[in-house]
Amino acid sequence: MEFMPDFNVLHPATIDEAVNLFGQNPDARYVAGGTDLVVNIRRGIEAPQTLIDLSRVTDIKQIEDDGAGGTVIGAGVTLSTLIDHQGLTENYGAVAQAAATVAAATHRHVATLGGNLCLDTRCVFYNQSEWWRSANDYCLKSRGDVCHVAPSGDHCFAAFSGDLAPALLVFDAEVTINGPEGSRTVPLNDIYADDGAAHLLLEKGEILTTIHLPAAKGVRSGYDKVRVRDSLDFPLAGVAIAMKIGAQGIDRIKVALTGLNSRPLVLAGTDALTGQNVDEKALDTLSDLLPKQIQPMTSTMTPPGYRRKVATNLIRKVALSLSDR
Ligand SMILES: Cc1cc2nc3c(=O)[nH]c(=O)nc-3n(C[C@H](O)[C@H](O)[C@H](O)COP(=O)(O)OP(=O)(O)OC[C@H]3O[C@@H](n4cnc5c(N)ncnc54)[C@H](O)[C@@H]3O)c2cc1C
Ligand code: SF4
Repeated sequence: MEFMPDFNVLHPATIDEAVNLFGQNPDARYVAGGTDLVVNIRRGIEAPQTLIDLSRVTDIKQIEDDGAGGTVIGAGVTLSTLIDHQGLTENYGAVAQAAATVAAATHRHVATLGGNLCLDTRCVFYNQSEWWRSANDYCLKSRGDVCHVAPSGDHCFAAFSGDLAPALLVFDAEVTINGPEGSRTVPLNDIYADDGAAHLLLEKGEILTTIHLPAAKGVRSGYDKVRVRDSLDFPLAGVAIAMKIGAQGIDRIKVALTGLNSRPLVLAGTDALTGQNVDEKALDTLSDLLPKQIQPMTSTMTPPGYRRKVATNLIRKVALSLSDR
């Protein structure tokens, strides 16, 4: 780690104030818990002159009913609050479970949901100190010309490694975003692109303010991940599943993954399981969907083939845990 560089910190109390401050400081960065951004600053990966601290914006720190059986979560809610929230643990189990696997307890105490959804992509050639990256001529994602993972191309394959996105995606979450042009609400899935160097489709100055989870009566859900260090680590692969089982077998199933592509991935083709029981045949169908959709690269210490196997095992494990067996 380098020494902390100088920067100004501004402390808005409302979203409007934060957006206005961004207008006056167009090169500023928003910071919430700082557990991702500050690490990147200390590694010299980012060097903003101004940070706009969202931690005093009380409007984005609530968890509320939406009046129709769903839940609205402020982007500034901390991960430890999510883990302890009874309504979430009861109705959206995967969300609370995913939050509980992020980093360590001290991080989760300040880390926010918004920061988790907006965290930078990761790569073993990028999440390094300034001197390490400079000694390796940097890379395409920042200050360099070549991708060390796929040197013949011009694409960055850094992996999206947030744990919360897949857990929210399986519930069809929507996000509300406020910015210089006003407010908009879009599916969470629409804020991501499969490009490690530009994976977040937020416009300059936009802030994620709330995350809406529609009602999920009778939906079972779960999240699991595999990481190098079980005490605190990003996922090598993470899998969330939401499933509704009726008298005729599976009514609805949605699967989302993290740690494998440059964006969180909603698995396509899971409708094929409708009407099936969660048995070996269904698990095979599910894991057969994976190979063509996931794209782990040599962006972590563990080889892509290993992460493929991990993803397959996880998807089977989580699906089985939600069955009646
Ligand atoms: C040792 C260690 C282990 C970790 N392990 C994990 C892990 O296992 N899983 C995992 O998912 N993460 C992990 N993290 C990363 C990080 O702790 C979490 O992702 C955390 O939830 C980030 O939230 P934050 O509020 O601290 O984000 P910040 O660092 O404050 O911000 C992260 C990014 O989001 C942007 N941002 C923040 N809030 C908003 C908003 N409301 N609207 C728009 N942009 C916003 C910031 O500008 C910044 O670019 C780890 C970090 C460390 C240091
Ligand atoms: S995938 Fe390539 S361009 Fe992207 S961070 Fe890694 S080395 Fe850099």
